[in-house]
Amino acid sequence: MKIQENISLADHTTFKIGGKARYFCLVQSEGDLKEAVAFAKEKKVPMLVLGGGSNVLISEKGFAGLVLKIELKGIEFEETELGTFAHVGAGENWDALVAETVKRGLYGLENLSGIPGTVGGAPVQNIGAYGAEAKDTIQSVEVFDPETGEISIMKKTECEFAYRDSIFKHEEGKHLVILTVTFLLKKDGELNITYKDVKKYFEEKKISELTQEDVRNAVIEIRSKKFPDLKQFGTAGSFFKNPIIQREDFEKLLNDYPKLPSFPAGEGLVKIPAGYLFDIICGFKGVRKGDAGVFENQALVLVNWGTATSEEIKNLAEEMRAKVKEKTGIEIEFEVNIL
Ligand code: NAP
Repeated sequence: MKIQENISLADHTTFKIGGKARYFCLVQSEGDLKEAVAFAKEKKVPMLVLGGGSNVLISEKGFAGLVLKIELKGIEFEETELGTFAHVGAGENWDALVAETVKRGLYGLENLSGIPGTVGGAPVQNIGAYGAEAKDTIQSVEVFDPETGEISIMKKTECEFAYRDSIFKHEEGKHLVILTVTFLLKKDGELNITYKDVKKYFEEKKISELTQEDVRNAVIEIRSKKFPDLKQFGTAGSFFKNPIIQREDFEKLLNDYPKLPSFPAGEGLVKIPAGYLFDIICGFKGVRKGDAGVFENQALVLVNWGTATSEEIKNLAEEMRAKVKEKTGIEIEFEVNIL
C-alpha cells in the first residue's frame, strides 16, 4: 500500500474544503489497514478515518497525521429463514447499495435512497430519512480496533444506536474502524410511505400498487428539491441535528411561536424541526456571507458556493446556533464533524 504525502483533503470531502493531510492512504484490504496503523504508530502521528467525506468540515490547516480513506469493497447476499443478509464492505457507496437491494426486490433501505457517503458511515451516524433509520436493518458491525489490533463483531445492541447517534461517535467507540456492516432485509416486507413528504408525493401522482423502486424514485426526487446537487456545490447536507427538548419547554415556547411544529420523541420529550427554527423563527434561509451560505430550499443545509473557508462556514453555523438559542433557548448541535 502506498502512503502519499501532502494530499489535499478538499478533494476528499463533499464540502470541497480542507487543507492537506501530512500522510494519506487508500485502505482496500484488512492488510492495508494493519499496515497503515503500524505506519502511524511508527511516525507517532494521529489517524483520521474518512469514508465518503460527506459529514465533515476540515480546516485549512489540514491534518498533521495519517488520513485513511476506507475503500473496503464487496457486497454479499445470504438467504436465510430470517430474511436476506447483506454483508457489505464499509467503503461501498451507500446509494449504490440501496439501488442494488431495490433491484433485488428487497425491503428495508428504499427510504434511505440518495444519501451521500459510504456504507461505513451509516452506523456511525445511524443515518435516517423519511421514516427509516439505518438501525432498523443493521444487524451487526465488524470493527477493527487499532489499539489492540483485534477484529470483532458488534451486535446491533452493542452499537448503542439513537437518533443520528451511535457508540462510534463517543469515546468508547470513536477509535474503531468499521470494516463490514451486515443488514437484514426482507423479501416480503412492507413499504413505509407514511412520512409526510412521501405520502404527499404519491397522493399527488396518484400512484398506487407501489414497489420499492417507486419509493426510491420518490425519495430521490423529493431530496433533489431540498438538497443541493453535490456534484455542483460543496455541502455536507444537514449541518445541524434536529433538537429533542422537554415537552414542558416546548409548551412554553408555544406562547411565542404558536405554530412551532413538534414530533413525539419518547416520554416527556419532543423533536423540533431545526429547519423551522432557522427559517421561520430566525430568517436564515438563503442567507449568504461571502461564499458560505444557507441553502434557499432548506435552512439546515450549509453550502460552499465557491471558495468559502471552513472558518466562514463555521462562523455562519455558530451565528445560526446562537440566534436560535437567543430566541428560543434551544441548544442546537452540529451534525457535521468539525476537524
Ligand atoms: P423534514 O421532513 O422537513 O422533517 C423535519 C423534522 O421533522 C425532522 O426532525 C423530522 O424527523 C421531523 N419529522 C417530520 N415528519 C415526521 C414524522 N412523521 N414523525 C416524526 N418526525 C417527523 O426534514 P428534511 O430536512 O426535509 O429531511 C428529510 C429527511 O431526511 C428527514 O427524515 C431527515 O432527518 C433526513 N435527513 C437525514 C440526514 C442524516 O441522517 N444525516 C441528513 C439530512 C436529512 P426525522 O429527522 O426523524 O425524520
